[in-house]
Amino acid sequence: MPTITQRLRQIRVQISNAELAYNRQPGSVLLLAVSKTKPPEAIADAYQAGQRHFGENYLQEALKKQQELGAYAITWHFIGPIQSNKTKALATHFAWVHSVDSLKIAKRLSEQRPAHLPPLNICLQVNISDEPSKSGIGLAELPQLREQVAKLPNLKLRGVMAIPAPQQDFEHQRQPYRALYQAVAKLGQTELDTFSFGMTGDLKAAIAEGSTIVRIGTALFGERDYG
Ligand SMILES: *Cc1c(COP(=O)(O)O)cnc(C)c1O
Repeated sequence: MPTITQRLRQIRVQISNAELAYNRQPGSVLLLAVSKTKPPEAIADAYQAGQRHFGENYLQEALKKQQELGAYAITWHFIGPIQSNKTKALATHFAWVHSVDSLKIAKRLSEQRPAHLPPLNICLQVNISDEPSKSGIGLAELPQLREQVAKLPNLKLRGVMAIPAPQQDFEHQRQPYRALYQAVAKLGQTELDTFSFGMTGDLKAAIAEGSTIVRIGTALFGERDYG
């Protein structure tokens, strides 16, 4: 079994290679290490190897790890489904929230962001494969929600996030990302600078289509055990 340090190095090479292959600026794709279900020790290992951005899906689990890793200068991203009663903790304990899919949630995050912290970085989650069970807004809702969220004072709207239906084929992997990229381009000149897409299975396709944050769990920490 390769160590987390070795895996991290491998993923960084994959990202650089994809940036090069698809005419992306070197260093323009941020690696977000998705540590859900993994112990604080795994996060500490990745941190020692230079990783600073970590993504979590479950609030209680994340808060516990944040406490245990309080001495580390980690930038925490929340990427899981959001319930209204969790917004205060999210606004208090994270630097980024990628999974905003309603004005109601966005308003609460803005109202509850503590005054001493910089604006909370936000991505709007778009349900790009139109899967009925998945969270996220439809593409058609993007222009209006973007305009409304951009006005909220304690948020910094950064971009969009997507989790498309898994595809094996490279060209099929690229399609939903391309559609989302084009939808954002069609909004014209905006504040948006972030495309949060690409996971272990489709990192290269995502970078080919403009990803600026890839969210990688399995390739870095190994398979998750939900037992
Ligand atoms: C779990 C998860 C990931 C990481 O997925 P891998 O396939 O393990 O890389 C990325 N994004 C979100 C939203 C996730 O829930």
